[in-house]
Amino acid sequence: QGFEGMVEDCCCDYGTVDLLNKEVLHPVLQELVKTPFFRYYKVKLWCDCPFWPDDGMCQLRDCSVCECPESEFPAMFRSSDDASCQEGRPEGAVDRTVDAMAFQGWTDTDNPWTIDDETESGDLTYVNLLLNPEKYTGYKGESARRIWEAIYAQNCFENGEKDSCTERRVFYRLISGLHTSISTHIAAEYLMDEATNLWGRNTSLMHDRVLQHPERVQNLYFTYLFVLRAVIKAQSYLAEAEYSTGNEVEDRLTHKLVTALVGSERLRTACPIPFDEAKLWRGPDADELKNQLQRHFRNITALMDCVGCEKCRLWGKLQISGLGTALKILFSVDGENGLDLQRNEVIALLNLLSRLSESLELIHEMADLVRSQNSFS
Ligand code: FAD
Repeated sequence: QGFEGMVEDCCCDYGTVDLLNKEVLHPVLQELVKTPFFRYYKVKLWCDCPFWPDDGMCQLRDCSVCECPESEFPAMFRSSDDASCQEGRPEGAVDRTVDAMAFQGWTDTDNPWTIDDETESGDLTYVNLLLNPEKYTGYKGESARRIWEAIYAQNCFENGEKDSCTERRVFYRLISGLHTSISTHIAAEYLMDEATNLWGRNTSLMHDRVLQHPERVQNLYFTYLFVLRAVIKAQSYLAEAEYSTGNEVEDRLTHKLVTALVGSERLRTACPIPFDEAKLWRGPDADELKNQLQRHFRNITALMDCVGCEKCRLWGKLQISGLGTALKILFSVDGENGLDLQRNEVIALLNLLSRLSESLELIHEMADLVRSQNSFS
């Protein structure tokens, strides 16, 4: 794909981002999201749409989420009387009395940018993200279209990347970058032939939805750098956090990987401030604008309950929660001492960064594939 110069609205150039991602961040993030702490996400999957109550859950096979993790589910999360959760019995997946234990050291803090799932709600369940990868599900049409439309249009981002107000532009670019990432994962893991259940890279979809729109790819770089900046800003908090799941060996590895990520010397020297949040909220109407954008982002979190496909809803919720966590870290905390994150927020933030990082890799790989296909045709 190959862009040159600085990523717009950011402080690092494209070449450096590509190199850092390929050689440092992507390999660490790939390992990190496999650890028990980061692969189980607590989420309310029940479709509870406040905007279009008629929108039912879709019945597509590849849409459904297996809420039942395999037998190596961390001991702390297991139900005391039935450790193995069987498919079709999602209620067996979680013993809510162990929550306090699994969440020890993690508080329940508010985020002004998001509407949280009720922590005490009986509808919450743990999902093993590795068993439910983000990929093509067949979710499209009116339901998907109106959600993207509501995100972009109803939330007043009409001017997109041309908006002269930096804060609104940043907002638009964050959403557009996430959209690019979702489309990239759909194209990279696509059901090419239903009859033989053949999955593969869909280069024409990748070209149509992503590669032929350079601004969408640029927005992905932007979102990546924004989230990376949030992770760096929370570096001491993340390095000192408790990643216990009851498996000491795995938990030590988790801690080591987090430290390698946030403490990377190469990152510190090559791209020390991926995004400069201090430049924002300086105008006379800054407080009002921040309240307005917080309301809009909370609306977006509520919209995720309308995504009519369970697996898309899972990843939509996780990634919007990750973005909300980044917004909180960068815009709603004075200094690192005031920072307090929920366990789920940390999981969402780093899984989001991993998805974005994977998308950057996939964009290069698939752009090469498209080029080689074109040179043969
Ligand atoms: P869409 O991707 O629906 O885009 C709608 C319109 O938005 C486009 O016509 C274009 O005008 C604009 N647009 C597209 N990309 C960008 C961008 N990057 N920046 C700015 N504007 C843009 N489907 C799956 O198969 N798997 C999933 O995991 C999945 N997750 C989803 C999660 C969410 C939250 C949502 C809302 C949908 C999800 N979908 C998923 C559906 C998927 O995103 C598409 O909506 C669907 O594949 C239909 O695509 P489309 O070609 O109509 O364009």
